[in-house]
Amino acid sequence: MVAVPLTLRTGRSLSAEDPTAPALGQPLVDRFGRVHRDLRISLTDRCSLRCTYCMPEQGNEWLARTSILSTDEIVRVAQVAAASGITTFRLTGGEPLLRADIVDVVRRLAALESPSGPVEVALTTNGIRLGEVLPDLVAAGLHRLNISIDTLDRDRFRELTRRDRLDDVRAGIAAAAASGLRPLKLNAVAMRGVNEDELVDLVAFALDHDAEMRFIEQMPLDAGHTWDRARMVTRDEILAALATRWSLEPIPGRGGAPAERFLLDGGPAAVGVIASVTAPFCGACDRLRLTADGQLRNCLFSNDEYDLLPLLRSEEPGSEPIAARLHACVAGKLPGHAIDDPSFLQPVRGMNAIGG
Ligand code: SAM
Ligand code: SF4
Repeated sequence: MVAVPLTLRTGRSLSAEDPTAPALGQPLVDRFGRVHRDLRISLTDRCSLRCTYCMPEQGNEWLARTSILSTDEIVRVAQVAAASGITTFRLTGGEPLLRADIVDVVRRLAALESPSGPVEVALTTNGIRLGEVLPDLVAAGLHRLNISIDTLDRDRFRELTRRDRLDDVRAGIAAAAASGLRPLKLNAVAMRGVNEDELVDLVAFALDHDAEMRFIEQMPLDAGHTWDRARMVTRDEILAALATRWSLEPIPGRGGAPAERFLLDGGPAAVGVIASVTAPFCGACDRLRLTADGQLRNCLFSNDEYDLLPLLRSEEPGSEPIAARLHACVAGKLPGHAIDDPSFLQPVRGMNAIGG
């Protein structure tokens, strides 16, 4: 195996020459037996919105354009990841639809195979521009779509996202509903004093679009570092609000999925809750992340990053060093995120630069 020094942004330095390191094509299993099958790929840190829980209004430090991975570089990493058992690629950001080559990225990733068969490509988007580009994305092989919408009220939307684009988001959701791409999921971060009185309306809106609503507990990932545990709307509060309108029956068999799902009035319609803070699901986590500037991360909340850029831009980029770094990233994964630990430190990157 080629000698490759492994440098983490924290300054910790490991060697990928570890003779016990698994070889190319070996499954990505961590010290706790978790098999990694899901790679979230951030295509950009740029965004058409400025959601308060994610980005500052101004003064964001953007990733250097020269460090942003090209389509070829993304596909190289994805090929090695697929050979190592990654079966789902979720494209995210920032806003992934801002990427000019988004259709090409989807087409090339959707053509990959893992040892268990063809991979799936999913997209998380704020919905802006979706109507325009969705037919091409579907033709390119996109399998699944999540669209974020936190409020149905135009003034609230403008305050929350600092942009007056609710109509564009709604148009994107309408296009997704009409496209027949299913399952279609809508995401909302539940926030005290912002949209906590809209949870039932958001589920009804999702049902009108043949979509499943999923509520996310707000996490400490905002660039402004203003998150306050005491102010967040919890899973239990979300469920209590929904129970005023529907009976909620837990759906078993969650596996590694972040959302706990409940049938509404016996089904088939359902709602999901992603309770990363009050009911963490780290024990079954099967996710890795690749940032737009080529850093591998094993957790949203980690401060360690495993740099792929030098490997991808070396004169003789080979698959083995990339595989070794993927395995090193998995080997370094902790059992959980420890948000509740007094020593918890919010990651340096905001959510838009990690990839949600
Ligand atoms: N721009 C796209 C979008 O908004 O869907 C994709 C990227 S965004 C970072 C992915 C998801 O992360 C969105 O559903 C967003 O609501 C969620 N998110 C962002 N910051 C968050 C936070 N601090 N806590 C919980 N969810 C967050
Ligand atoms: Fe942009 Fe998505 Fe972050 Fe909102 S949550 S600012 S849409 S990246």
